[in-house]
Amino acid sequence: MHKNRSDIPQHRHLITFGLFLLPLLLGILLLPSLTHFAANHTLTASMAALTSSYETRRQLLDASIKQLLPRIQYNCGGEDMRLLRAPEHQNLYIRVIGIMGKDGSRCSSVGQSRFPPLLSQHALADGFHITTTAALFGSRQELVVLHNQGSNMVYWILNSGWMEMALQDTCTNCLYGISLHQPSGMINQFGDPHIPEEVQAQRLRFNDLQNHVVQELWAGRKLTNYWRLRLLYWGSPLLLLVSLGLVWMYQRWLRQHHAMPQRLYRALQRQEFVPFYQPVVDARKQQIVGYEVLIRWHEHGRNWISPADFIDFAESSQLILPMTEQLLAQVLRDLPRLPADTWISVNISAIHVEGPALVQLLEKHHWPAPHRLCFELTERKPIHHLDRALSQLSILRQHGYAFKLDDFGTGYSGFAYLQRLGLQQFKIDKMFVDHLAPQGEQPLLHGIVSFGHQTGMQMIAEGVETQEQVRLLAELGVDLIQGYVFARPMPIAQAAEWRLPSAADASRCDKT
Ligand code: C2E
Ligand code: CA
Ligand code: CA
Repeated sequence: MHKNRSDIPQHRHLITFGLFLLPLLLGILLLPSLTHFAANHTLTASMAALTSSYETRRQLLDASIKQLLPRIQYNCGGEDMRLLRAPEHQNLYIRVIGIMGKDGSRCSSVGQSRFPPLLSQHALADGFHITTTAALFGSRQELVVLHNQGSNMVYWILNSGWMEMALQDTCTNCLYGISLHQPSGMINQFGDPHIPEEVQAQRLRFNDLQNHVVQELWAGRKLTNYWRLRLLYWGSPLLLLVSLGLVWMYQRWLRQHHAMPQRLYRALQRQEFVPFYQPVVDARKQQIVGYEVLIRWHEHGRNWISPADFIDFAESSQLILPMTEQLLAQVLRDLPRLPADTWISVNISAIHVEGPALVQLLEKHHWPAPHRLCFELTERKPIHHLDRALSQLSILRQHGYAFKLDDFGTGYSGFAYLQRLGLQQFKIDKMFVDHLAPQGEQPLLHGIVSFGHQTGMQMIAEGVETQEQVRLLAELGVDLIQGYVFARPMPIAQAAEWRLPSAADASRCDKT
């Protein structure tokens, strides 16, 4: 049943719309999992940053204690001030170091600061105590480590913002962190203290057993929302780009493939198909023996289009028939411009000989130039109705036309075609020429060539690009050469002028 023509664009609109929506829908579907994943990752990474920062703080404090204690004189003299202000004690974790001497001297790393009001002290080992500053005027409490030596005292006020410092890149208010010194019950916290109350809040915990410190990090709705917004903010333009990219690719595909029938019809109407001619040279005799006709499409407003982009479609849609017809008409016009002792070989498809198409075409032209015009049938695509092809070929052969088997050795039925269709010439595919090797290393090619010699078939090597390949082919006894080594396919005006370079020119080219 034929499709209603108006259904087709509507169907394409639907696909376009679907392709546009697809990434956006996928994005919406994946958003909860991605958000969850990102929030989890943030929590784990933040806990790792916090633990490592805690460890750094502990090491810096230990180092400071070890360096200061043996040297302090508790008189706030020059040496004490130098020690307090030594750069190695100034860091992000220790805010102030101070001394209180039994003689009443008071000094600190930030000058003659007053000793801060402290809450109750908790004794640690070796004369150390731990306490916090009082939260005066709503300020944040700070952890203080003290060391008493007789009535002399040295103290370290630790920066209570160390947890936030560790998590600078994260949304710190989306988290709740708490560090608890268990024996004293002293805590340091940051972030939103309501997070642990949420039903689905997540918690990570770190235990410093040696120093009896427990750290916890909590995340809940705030972090999820934070990530949802971030993903929407960055993901939406990205998904939009992907959607537009998909639509663009689909439209491009439609233009190139789906629109092909219309484009080819138009091209036929406008007669945009042109024959290019590539010489076939007898390398031993150094003369042109013929030309292969290769179709080119000069689409209106575009560059030349190579057959690889449309021949398959033209063959499957049978448009190849009117195309070859147009091409042949031009070839027949061009024929007198090419040397009289050369042949011109036209590519045909199975469809030309499985039915009367080629016979009718040549009949229409009153069986033109049978001694110069010949045809190439490819082995790559199968002939489905061999019997019909056989009877058509015999009619054509009776009128004097010769046929070559193209791309010999690339399919499964080359030998069968040669025998059953009674072909007398074949073309050795570029695939073999590309891998030319000295005798014995390429059994298939050597087998093909010796078959050609034994059966007296004419062989043309295709896609020959170098003089070395010409030489190796000559050693095999293959003299007819087609390829860029001599010339590329060219329009008639150029082909008519084209001559083989003289031996002297050729040797000059060889040297460069
Ligand atoms: P083919 O019949 O095997 O033609 C040889 C192809 O190899 C041509 O490609 C030619 O330009 C290219 N060629 C020749 N020498 C060299 C070389 O030294 N190096 C390289 N790399 N390539 C070389 P083209 O013109 O693109 O044609 C491709 C195929 O399209 C042809 O392969 C043929 O199967 C088909 N074709 C071309 N014109 C027609 C036509 O009028 N009718 C039909 N049915 N098919 C055609
Ligand atoms: Ca060919
Ligand atoms: Ca070929």
